[in-house]
Amino acid sequence: MATSVPSPAFHPTANLDSYPSDIVVTSSDRIAFYVHSRRILSVSTNHFASLLIQPLPIGGKLKVFLLGEDSQVLNVVFHTIYLKPFGQSPSPVAVFVAIDAFNKYGIPVDQYIRPNTPLFPPLLAHAANDPLNVYAVAGQYNLYELAAAASAHLLALDPEDVTDEHAVRMGPIYLKRLLLLRPARKRLLEELLLQGPSEHPPTPQCGVDNQRRTGRQWDLMITNLLSGPTPNLPSATIQATLSPIGNHIGCRDCKAALDERIQQIVTNWEKARVRFELPELYIVMLKYCRKQYRLILVAQSHRISQGLWPQDSENARI
Ligand SMILES: [Zn+2]
Repeated sequence: MATSVPSPAFHPTANLDSYPSDIVVTSSDRIAFYVHSRRILSVSTNHFASLLIQPLPIGGKLKVFLLGEDSQVLNVVFHTIYLKPFGQSPSPVAVFVAIDAFNKYGIPVDQYIRPNTPLFPPLLAHAANDPLNVYAVAGQYNLYELAAAASAHLLALDPEDVTDEHAVRMGPIYLKRLLLLRPARKRLLEELLLQGPSEHPPTPQCGVDNQRRTGRQWDLMITNLLSGPTPNLPSATIQATLSPIGNHIGCRDCKAALDERIQQIVTNWEKARVRFELPELYIVMLKYCRKQYRLILVAQSHRISQGLWPQDSENARI
C-alpha cells in the first residue's frame, strides 16, 4: 500500500478542534486528512455517506477511510465542513466536483455556500471568468446571493451560449431569470432616461421655448443611448453622452437641473439590481421536487426551440 502524505491544512497537529483527530481520510492520490468524527457528524446529514454511524471514542484508535475523491476535492470538502478559509484558492474544477460531492456526503449546499462561508470567495472570483457555470450551480442549489453576484457578469450574455446542460443544471426558475435579465435591465434604463431634467417657471431670461429646446436635445441624446446595447451600459457613457447638453444652456437653473438629473440617473443605474421574486412555493419545489422540475424544463426547452420564450414565459410557473 502506497504511503500517504498529510494534508498541509489537515495534518495531525493542525489543532482544528479541542480534541485530537480521530479519523484519517485518505484521498485517491494518497493525501491524508486528519479530521474529527464529531465535527463531520455535526455537519453531515447522512453520517458522511454512512461511513460514520456515531462519534468515535476520544483517545481511541485512529479510524482510516480511503475515499475515491482526489485531494483537491477533499480539500474543498473539509475546508467547508470546518468553515476554514482557504490558504490558496481551490481550482474551479475541484470546487464544482466538490459541490456535487456535498450531496454524497450529506453536506447541505445551501447552508455551506453563503456569503460568509469559505467557499463563497473562490466562487465569486471564478464568476468573473466563468459566470455562466457559476450561475448554473447557484441555480441548481438555489443559492440566490451567488446567482445575483454571477448575474452581474451575464448582462451581455447571448442566450445561445446557454447550453442544454446549463439549463438543466440551473433549473427553470433561474433560467427564466437569466433570460429576462437583459430586457429587464433595458426597461430599467429606459425608465430612468425617459424622465428628463425638471423645468422651472418661465422667466424673462429662460422661457418655455428655451426649456423645450433642452428637452428636445435630451430626447435626442437618450435615443442614441437606448439604440445601443443597454443592459450593461457603463454609467460613464451615460454621463459622457448627456453632459454635453449643458454646453448649449445659458440658464443657470436649467444647467443645475440637468446636472442633478444626470447624477440621479448615474447613481440609480449603478445601484440598480433586477429582482425577480421567488415565491416560497418555488423554493419548496426547488428543494424537494427537482426531478419534477427537470421534466418541466424539458417541456420548456422544447418551447424555447419553437421560439415561444420569453413571451410565453409565464408558463414556466406551475
Ligand atoms: Zn432655465
